[in-house]
Amino acid sequence: MELIDCLILGSGPAGYTAGIYAGRAGIAPVLYEGIQPGGQLTTTTEIENFPGYPEGVDGNQMMDDLRQQCVRFGTEIRSAIAVKTDLSQRPFTITFDDDSQVQCKTLIVATGASAKYLGLADEEKYRGQGVSACATCDGFFYRKKTVAVVGGGDTACEEATYLAGLAQKVYLIVRKDYLRASQAMQDRVFANPKIEVLFNTNTVGLFGENGVEGAHLVYKKGTDEEKQLDIQIDGFFLAIGHKPNSDIVKPWVNTDEVGYIITEGATPVTNVPGVFAAGDVADPLYRQAITAAASGCKAAIEVKKFLEENE
Ligand code: NDP
Repeated sequence: MELIDCLILGSGPAGYTAGIYAGRAGIAPVLYEGIQPGGQLTTTTEIENFPGYPEGVDGNQMMDDLRQQCVRFGTEIRSAIAVKTDLSQRPFTITFDDDSQVQCKTLIVATGASAKYLGLADEEKYRGQGVSACATCDGFFYRKKTVAVVGGGDTACEEATYLAGLAQKVYLIVRKDYLRASQAMQDRVFANPKIEVLFNTNTVGLFGENGVEGAHLVYKKGTDEEKQLDIQIDGFFLAIGHKPNSDIVKPWVNTDEVGYIITEGATPVTNVPGVFAAGDVADPLYRQAITAAASGCKAAIEVKKFLEENE
């Protein structure tokens, strides 16, 4: 079986930055892109807060640039998805969705996080037919239509604002009586005449003959003021947070109750020697491109040290 010195799972800012650093350290890493090549930033539009881009940068552009930088320093990029790991002994064995297997001396888990859904049967029923968790991917289909976004955080506000640029009307469905998004994001939402915020509101179902045509909502659920209401919509967008993609390493690597990989303090070191975690899969707090990139750098430095100490 092929034996790789440093295997990187994931192609977001964490994975690619790990590739750049490991490549420059002469390790010849192999990086598997996984389910979403380029990671979550490929589903956003403009990135305005990554240092070094005074005018902002398109998410896809930034990930293309990172990928090229990675390749330049000798990282081999492959496109399969890891489905199983055996981290019980070194070298570790990783199995991919094309049934291939490789062994590796060190592993950097940079598998990121995935969008969460409410758990309604109708979300499954209408997936790809009006239900989406990515406004920038699917918003184009809702030009001049009516859509709803669920959530009250920065993502929800960002998606609602983005969709308002395309659709004729956007409902923002918020379960509490306030938005938890940053003030700047909230201001943008409240200033946009196309966005109607529905506070204290939960979605309980979707309806429609040919794809989503509306949503069943409940206002102030469980109180004396409880009211059922239906809204007519063409698209239903989830923006309620993310789940860390740690399932494939969970049998071996310690995670918290949500599934975030637990690392030693501010390092990417996990409980399994030789396995390092970088980016959103290990970051319940910051989840930013810049923090993910930084942790990818740290992981590659740890890999170099580990290989030197264990060869
Ligand atoms: P958050 O965890 O911040 O917010 C999730 C939102 O979804 C909350 O309003 C939450 O409600 C709501 N929610 C969760 N579960 C449900 C449910 N079952 N039903 C209804 N509503 C639900 O996630 P985000 O993705 O918005 O943000 C993640 C991180 O990324 C944050 O730190 C954010 O600041 C950052 N971010 C920054 C951006 C930027 O700076 N440009 C852009 C996007 C994100 P409740 O409040 O009631 O818990």
